[in-house]
Amino acid sequence: MAPLIDTFGRIHDNLRVSVTDRCNIRCFYCMPETGVKFEAREKLLTFEEIERFVRVAVSLGVRKLRLTGGEPLLRRDLAKLIRKLVAIDGIEDLALTTNGVLMAQQAQELYDAGLRRINVHLDTLDRERFKQITRRDDLAKVLDGIDTCLRLGYGPIKINAVAVKNLVEPDIVPLALYGRERGIEIRYIEFMPLDSQGLWDKGKVLLADDMIAMLTREIGPLREVPDRDPRAPATDYEYLDGKGKVGFVASISRPFCLNCNRIRLTSDGKFRYCLFAIDETDMRQLLRGGASDQAIASAIRGSVHDKWLGHEINTQRFVPPPRPMYSIGG
Ligand code: SAM
Ligand code: SF4
Repeated sequence: MAPLIDTFGRIHDNLRVSVTDRCNIRCFYCMPETGVKFEAREKLLTFEEIERFVRVAVSLGVRKLRLTGGEPLLRRDLAKLIRKLVAIDGIEDLALTTNGVLMAQQAQELYDAGLRRINVHLDTLDRERFKQITRRDDLAKVLDGIDTCLRLGYGPIKINAVAVKNLVEPDIVPLALYGRERGIEIRYIEFMPLDSQGLWDKGKVLLADDMIAMLTREIGPLREVPDRDPRAPATDYEYLDGKGKVGFVASISRPFCLNCNRIRLTSDGKFRYCLFAIDETDMRQLLRGGASDQAIASAIRGSVHDKWLGHEINTQRFVPPPRPMYSIGG
């Protein structure tokens, strides 16, 4: 079958599936502290529906899959879903993005189900700042989760750190050192306008260039990894002393839309061609309404065909998506 190509010639082979919109912590740049309105449980896709959708996507050329949320480890029996998905012929890479709070408890079961690649979200090694950011006192659990994964042989493990200006500057270097000591790549993600309270503005983004300057000054020179995948969102750098890597997802200061290969399925079954998309395609209705695989495939194709060139965060035209990060699946 022809690949999933849009009108700008971009081929899409990378699918992110959110398995829940619920979360056990409350990062301020994603969720409000109280009063979060979650989807009714019956609206969440079942494992069978997710598996079917992924099979159709694979028939269209999807090869890379990431499970996310909300917090994916809150989805009951997640290991069962992972087992189903790794068994799909054509999936070359399955990864999970988690806040790590429940990882120590579930790491063994998920590993046994076939999971190897994880991104753990961690912005700081400072307990007070962790509490300030997440409104929970769970830093020790996250660190325990990472240690457990290292012990079990997960790899590669990456850490996602959201870069918010006038907040996490003291954390940039300690996190990088933590990663260097453990063979973990830290990926600093510029704060994006996807929070639920409209807090974002450009002045609150800690920019990749400023972080690179801090790391170079405090740890040592970095150079861009020459053979990196041009479609990966992060620009990777290695330390000149050969000890480890850091990455920057610089959606604001270095937008990478021209190379985008990603598509998304929300936990309530909406298909999105972009994190920042306004329009969605209702796959749940198709999956539950007796649609054929062919009909689902052409709905995916149609949406990808309509994909825009990219977000316009740096322009006056930018309109934030109606759903915040936890509801889309980051
Ligand atoms: N709960 C899991 C977690 O936190 O990793 C998975 C879902 S979370 C929405 C996925 C990723 O989105 C997180 O790792 C975090 O780095 C990122 N994120 C959340 N809100 C963000 C924002 N406003 N700007 C940039 N990145 C954000
Ligand atoms: Fe939860 Fe992840 Fe959002 Fe933080 S970023 S509130 S951990 S979904």
